[in-house]
Amino acid sequence: MNDKYSKAIQELKDKGLYNDIRIIESGQGAYLTIKGEQKLNLCSNNYLGLANDPRLVEAVIKAVKEYGVGTSSVRALSGTNKLHIELESKLASFKHCDACIVLSGGYMANMACIQTLIGKEDILISDELNHASIIDAGRLSGCKNKFIYKHADVESLEQVLKETENLANTPKSDGELPTRLIVTDGVFSMDGDLAPLPGIVKLAKAHNALTMVDDAHGEGTLGKNGRGIVDHFGLEGEVDLDVGTLSKGFGVMGGFITGKQGIIDFLRQKGRQFLFSNGLSIPDTAALIEAVTIMEESDERVKKLWENATFFKEKMSALGFDLGHSESPITPVMIGDENKAKEFSVKLFEKGIYATPIKFPMVALGTARIRVIPSATHSVEDLEKAVKAFEEVGRELQVI
Ligand SMILES: *Cc1c(COP(=O)(O)O)cnc(C)c1O
Repeated sequence: MNDKYSKAIQELKDKGLYNDIRIIESGQGAYLTIKGEQKLNLCSNNYLGLANDPRLVEAVIKAVKEYGVGTSSVRALSGTNKLHIELESKLASFKHCDACIVLSGGYMANMACIQTLIGKEDILISDELNHASIIDAGRLSGCKNKFIYKHADVESLEQVLKETENLANTPKSDGELPTRLIVTDGVFSMDGDLAPLPGIVKLAKAHNALTMVDDAHGEGTLGKNGRGIVDHFGLEGEVDLDVGTLSKGFGVMGGFITGKQGIIDFLRQKGRQFLFSNGLSIPDTAALIEAVTIMEESDERVKKLWENATFFKEKMSALGFDLGHSESPITPVMIGDENKAKEFSVKLFEKGIYATPIKFPMVALGTARIRVIPSATHSVEDLEKAVKAFEEVGRELQVI
């Protein structure tokens, strides 16, 4: 019986789809130690360099000495430490929202948000390229009325809203009208392009639908001090649910949802991921309080991130690389063929550069790429070194 799993693994290996997991022997930063060697790191989501920041480390040591490590219960019983409340209130104020609920991951936050607000007879409307956690959350909700609109296409969204107008005005079996929820990623992680949020919000209002944005790659990269995509578009107070992750720009781990007091209170009372799973540990929470403080203090790191991203993109474009249509620091270097992308990454690695290939099923077949994520921790010399390696491998493999 167990054989079938080993066989499946062999098949993955034969097809080149087996995921070889690299082991990192250092902290996160511009460089990572892998198998005893330093590699220039171009693939972490540590946008602002907070993952390994001394201030976060100090905050953790202080908190751990006072409160220990674990919280030993779900938040709803005896597991809510005052640090959790401090973090939620800091995040709400950072996002300029009424209220915030923190969960143990961005994945969990999407689950909690969608499963709690959307039932079998409600209506869920989703961008076709939304993150896997949104897709999974839709499945978990058991919603029968799921609709997909074309990627980042407001006309296609409007079409779906018109198609679902009747359904939205037909009472459910409990006599209430269905909730219609429009969900989109903020920054799309594989291409780095942005959701057309102003158009989405306008349509949602006209059609009396709720909006939810997953801002995982917008936090730390977009808006004033890295507040995210809602701030970037000047839409404060206009998006009903702003879901984030604390594991990328914020540098630690966890997820959160900000919005109006009523809806966040409801999630706190009804969200199964909040009620039946522990919250963040003491060290995570303390580190995050410090991370938000650092982001509030200054936008220096966000500026540096963008300087680095712009520098890298300009140099790479000048060499003739196709960088897709990114509007964020995420820089996809388009290769096309899956095996070629893999080979490209291996050759970069031999030159001391760590940048992973992104291929099917994460992106469509034939659109494989190397996804580069510059960060505020890189120096100009680091990026020049990266560009040089890309140029050499690009010419060798005839990508440029
Ligand atoms: C990374 C990511 C998540 C998951 O966040 P975790 O905190 O790692 O669970 C969810 N949505 C999007 C769009 C992401 O990029």
